[in-house]
Parts: sequence; C-alpha cells; structure tokens
Amino acid sequence: MSVYYITTFYHFFPLKAQGKEAEQVKEELKKLAVEFSIHGLIITGSEGFNATISAMSSENLQAFKEALMKHFHIQIKTFKDSTSHIKPFRRFSVKIREEIVTTGIPGRVPEEFKNFHLSPEEWDQVIKKENDYVMIDTRNWYEYKLGTFRGALNPNIEKFTDFPEYFEKQNIPKDKKIMIFCTGGIRCEKGILELQDKGYEKVYQLDGGILNYLKEKPNEEFLGECFVFDNRVAVDQNLNPSQKYKLCPHCGQPGEIKIHCKRCDSEALLCESCLQLDWKKDTCSKNCAYQYSQNPLKKGKKQERPSV
Ligand SMILES: [Zn+2]
Ligand SMILES: [Zn+2]
Repeated sequence: MSVYYITTFYHFFPLKAQGKEAEQVKEELKKLAVEFSIHGLIITGSEGFNATISAMSSENLQAFKEALMKHFHIQIKTFKDSTSHIKPFRRFSVKIREEIVTTGIPGRVPEEFKNFHLSPEEWDQVIKKENDYVMIDTRNWYEYKLGTFRGALNPNIEKFTDFPEYFEKQNIPKDKKIMIFCTGGIRCEKGILELQDKGYEKVYQLDGGILNYLKEKPNEEFLGECFVFDNRVAVDQNLNPSQKYKLCPHCGQPGEIKIHCKRCDSEALLCESCLQLDWKKDTCSKNCAYQYSQNPLKKGKKQERPSV
C-alpha cells in the first residue's frame, strides 16, 4: 500500500518585495513541484503562501520544503505533517488570490514580531488553570460538527467572512481573554487582527491550529476528528485519515451514514441532509441518482470517477 507524506503550512510575506508578480510565482512553484513530484494546492498572491501538499516519500517532501524556503528566502516555522494511505490530492495546482485566506480585508497581514500564539501546552494550561476566558472555534459549522475543543463556542458560520458579524453579536467584554483556533492557524492570524481592530487586546490563537495540537496532544482537550480540505475528509486523534467520514457523493459535505445504492449495489457514506432527500437517499452518486429516478427497477454499474 502506498503511503503519502502530507504537510500543511502558511507563511505571510510580501512577494512583491521580491519583485515578483503572482503569475511568475505560480510558474516557479510549479517547477519546484515537478522537481519533487509534489501534489496538492498552494494558494498565493501578494500576501504569501497557504498550502497543503503531498509527496510519495518523506525525503521528497523534506527536499521540497527546503527548496521552497531557499528559493523564496523565507523561514517557515511550523509545518504540520501527517501521513495517509488515502491519496490526498490527484494533482498539483496553484491558485492566485487577493488573500491567501479569505476574510475580506486583503493586505492586512500579521506582523512577525508580535506574538499572540499559544503552544499546545500553553493552550492546555489555560484550559486547566483559568476560568475567565472565552474559547471560540473560528471554523465553519460542518468542521465544528466533526470535532472541536472541550468547551468551545460554535459560531455556526458558513464561511470565515461571517465570523466578525458573529463575534459582534456576542457582546463579549473588551478585557476578556479570548482563545481562538482553526485547522492550521491561518484563519486565526487574520481573525486576531480583526478582533484587535475592535478593541480586544487579549486575543490568543492556538499555534499551528488543531493539526499541530493533535501532533503533540492526541486524546486530550480536542474531541472527535479534524476536518481537512483534501480527500482524507478528516483526520483522527493520531492524524490518520478518518475511518468514519467520507465525502457525501451528492453534496461534498462529510458523510457518515452508510447506504447501499439501489442502482449499482455499492456502498456509500451520505450526509444527514442528503439522507432526507428522496432521490438521493438510496443512491451512491449523482449519476446513480439520475438513472434510478428515470428507471427505479433497472440496475446498472457504478460509474467510475474519471481520473484527472
Ligand atoms: Zn450530502
Ligand atoms: Zn450507485
């Protein structure tokens, strides 16, 4: 069985200062990816990099990290590594975005010398020893649903740009200690800036997010699994690919309820909402759903996913 070596990282730095346009950076990243047979997604633009990538060997992954840092003259502090038997990505791609994580405030990036990061150990110390704080999960509702920190508030948002509005409504006193976290830390980097703009000075983020926490502290204050943005769907407490969730074939949300397709007899894991829909609940794919709705008595083969 193949093993894939995966890492998630981000780094804020002004690419423009290196005299590089986004298109040029994209080509340079592609070249590096080919050199080390890297798959995955890197989001870039004027703000820096935000990425999850995979390699077929740990040596290749390590060599890519070093080549990337050397090429762009940067030092990336935290790489969140994991391994998987599931192929996380089919190919390599670079997306150019105004913001490397979408908040609606492009150009507003954290300053390196200011540190509002708590290590997993410091994070746990606050949870164990302090009472006067608010902990908020800055991720979306479907990420929260799979797992979160003990005692964390759920903003129940669709996307991160809804977070400031949610926060406003909570009327949290300005001097309250606020602890925020996300998957790998990048959403919180910008989240802190927004909360500071609103006058909150004691806002801290979990350094490296849940992925970094689980690496050091499996089965402690984080409960459940952590949603990730690739084919693994989620990782468990030991950063292994989820055994529990697969992407629901109808809507792309995490699915966990096993069904037998009435068209092709294969198994699929559906999400709760698709399970409520007549034409989806008995089928394993969009194609089977369509064929089944046309002719419920006729069986057919499972449609193979086209390889990209
Ligand atoms: Zn669904
Ligand atoms: Zn089917």
